[in-house]
Amino acid sequence: MDQIEEIRSKIDLVAFISETVPLKKAGRNFKGLCPFHTEKTPSFIVSPERQIWKCFGCQKGGDAFGFLMEIERIEFGEALRILAKKTGVVLQSYRPSQSESEKDKLYQINHLAGEFFHYLLLNHQAGKKALNYILQRGISKQSLEKFKLGYAPAMWDGLQRFLVGKKGYKVEDLEKSGLIIAVDDKRSAISRYYDRFRDRLMFPLSDHRGNVVGFAGRVLDPEVKEAKYVNTPETAVYHKSDLLFPLDITKEEIKKENCAIVVEGELDAISSYQVGLKNVVAIKGSALSEEQSRLLKRFCENVVLSLDADVAGDMASRRGIEIADKTGLNLKVLTLGKYKDPDEAAQKEPDYLKQRYNQAQSIYDFFIDSAFKRYRGATAEEKKKIGQEIVPVLSKIEDEIVKNVYVKKLSDRLEVNEEAIILQIEKSVQKSPVLPAVKPISPPTVKSRSLLLEEYFLALIFQSKQFDELIKKEKVMISEPAYQKITQYLGDYLQSSKKFSPQFFFKTLPAELKDAYDKLYLIDFGERIDDEDWVAREIQKTKILMETLLVKEDLRQTLSVLKQGGKDQANNPDLDQKVLNLTKKLNDLEKRALAL
Ligand SMILES: [Zn+2]
Repeated sequence: MDQIEEIRSKIDLVAFISETVPLKKAGRNFKGLCPFHTEKTPSFIVSPERQIWKCFGCQKGGDAFGFLMEIERIEFGEALRILAKKTGVVLQSYRPSQSESEKDKLYQINHLAGEFFHYLLLNHQAGKKALNYILQRGISKQSLEKFKLGYAPAMWDGLQRFLVGKKGYKVEDLEKSGLIIAVDDKRSAISRYYDRFRDRLMFPLSDHRGNVVGFAGRVLDPEVKEAKYVNTPETAVYHKSDLLFPLDITKEEIKKENCAIVVEGELDAISSYQVGLKNVVAIKGSALSEEQSRLLKRFCENVVLSLDADVAGDMASRRGIEIADKTGLNLKVLTLGKYKDPDEAAQKEPDYLKQRYNQAQSIYDFFIDSAFKRYRGATAEEKKKIGQEIVPVLSKIEDEIVKNVYVKKLSDRLEVNEEAIILQIEKSVQKSPVLPAVKPISPPTVKSRSLLLEEYFLALIFQSKQFDELIKKEKVMISEPAYQKITQYLGDYLQSSKKFSPQFFFKTLPAELKDAYDKLYLIDFGERIDDEDWVAREIQKTKILMETLLVKEDLRQTLSVLKQGGKDQANNPDLDQKVLNLTKKLNDLEKRALAL
């Protein structure tokens, strides 16, 4: 057994996937909401028998390695290392792929840059000014250490001197990390490259596993004309839309609270953390991305968004809220009244901030309040404006009871009857949705009815292990080549082994049949698959349907020959007889189906 096989055999896939996706037992299999696409009814299936998973919504599927690679967006090698560690298998030899070693190199470079900046801020004369500034802003020494804040020196090549001069990295690698920028002008006196971050307070940005993937650099002097923040550009390891700062540190707290507070900047997150709101993450800008929502969903069900009161009318924020809502997160909103952001509130009045957090308001109340603040709602014209803003929001609430509660609230506040609002909601649903759909649903793979029936038939037989039906009588009915071959292999297997084991049988199959075989274990029959009577009846029913399909096809062809042949065939007794026979067969099949 090779090491990959050994690791695979040591993992209980259901338990492993349950760590990130809540699964429920459904017959032989387990079911849950797919973590890879947005859905409200589960189409994500895990088969303990076959140790595989598959989503019938987005068609993704695989084994434990595939799941880990997909959910963590990592390469095979990294998944291998993680699972080896988890199962206690010591890897003998493993050569990472090129893109994997590339990413590893970027993690190292970013890590070292972080250490360099951190050292300068805390221990070096060059960082004194920055250190005083940040301490004065109320960030404690402890926090600086915890979040590894740093200082990028006011030099064009400070970081290069360290990483190239001392650590021996190539400038090309540094460029890939986004830490330095290439200069087009080749006559440039200093260097062909210069540091991206200069004279800035540095926040290292890590993924949720703790790899430093990039930086946010903040100016010290708010009066300077430069951009307040400079960030690492998109690189092989840094994707702005994925990042939640500092999830690697706060994820345990978020899990414990089953809630994440989402703020807009790194300092907001650190200040909140300092005063005890430790389940916090920061995003860039005011809209949660789909990736961020999914990532949060792995750690909690509730999200409290700290938003400016005026963002309710802002489409980008509303879209973010809609995305998070679709992901299935429960959304609340924390508004800060007199303070401009959580950082300021935490510095000036920590208790007030905590109180606002505890009193966070449902997202729908927030929308309604905000619309009334802006449009008053006294005149008919103002009421109309409020309706125009709120109706599309309410129309998207999936839960009818919740929807009704807010319809009632809105009607009370507008002093109109509920029917008027319901009517508007119906109108707005009929119109195309105001916001574009999050993601196109991939079209179902087109399969012929006969193939679907064959799949269903074989799934019934394999899952119930009622092989007699197949081996002794019905081999001929299978027309799909892959399933024909699997049936042949099954015959051979059953001749040499007394007992059928899905796992051992799998190993006897050639590689090109393995996918088709796995599919048979992913069709969900619920508890009924253990009910012998049901299985027997279902097998008979499916057989009749398959046969009916064959006879109908035969009849269709015969009739078309008769038609095309015109006069020559007009009195062909053989064909006439065949049509009669086939019609009789169809009648018999129909009777048999009714008798079941
Ligand atoms: Zn899916």
